[in-house]
Amino acid sequence: MKTVYLGLGSNVGDRRAQLQNALKALNSGDVEVTGVSPVYETEPQGLREQPWFLNMVVEAHTSLFPLQLLTRIEEIEKQFGRRRMIPNGPRTLDIDILLYGRAVIRSERLVVPHPRYTERRFVLAPLHDLAPDLRDPVNGKSIREMLLAVANQPIRRLAKSLQT
Ligand code: ADP
Ligand code: MG
Repeated sequence: MKTVYLGLGSNVGDRRAQLQNALKALNSGDVEVTGVSPVYETEPQGLREQPWFLNMVVEAHTSLFPLQLLTRIEEIEKQFGRRRMIPNGPRTLDIDILLYGRAVIRSERLVVPHPRYTERRFVLAPLHDLAPDLRDPVNGKSIREMLLAVANQPIRRLAKSLQT
């Protein structure tokens, strides 16, 4: 069994319902959700002219291997209407593998730890809610340390969390 952290985001349609559907779909079969962060509303990075996102992080235990987990995630993205359009553009549902135990993976389909999460407050803030002392297996920094370095990106925690 591995402990994994997944980042979920949505900025098109009923964002909250999409995260809720994804959470329920994730928590089945060989994936057991063990932690759900609060939901954050966040400003789009990169491509600015698009709706704000809802983002959250999920902790899970899984017996799936990394590429099996990625395939599972891609199925859930498709099931809830994901269309791949513009890179970094609007998406109904995005699920990223942030961390997979302490594994370091650099294959064509999958890079873990996720290459950009260390600079994204919309990932680090909800991850910090679940696991502040967790350390990145590549840079050795704790989530708390990395979050302090990105404090200027505007995000806002919503009052109501989702449940599995
Ligand atoms: P992004 O999340 O970067 O905006 P996509 O969700 O469209 O973009 O993902 C593009 C590709 O990234 C996927 O086809 C997947 O194979 C690859 N990928 C590489 N590393 C990861 C990871 N850690 N988690 C999720 N997808 C990843
Ligand atoms: Mg993605």
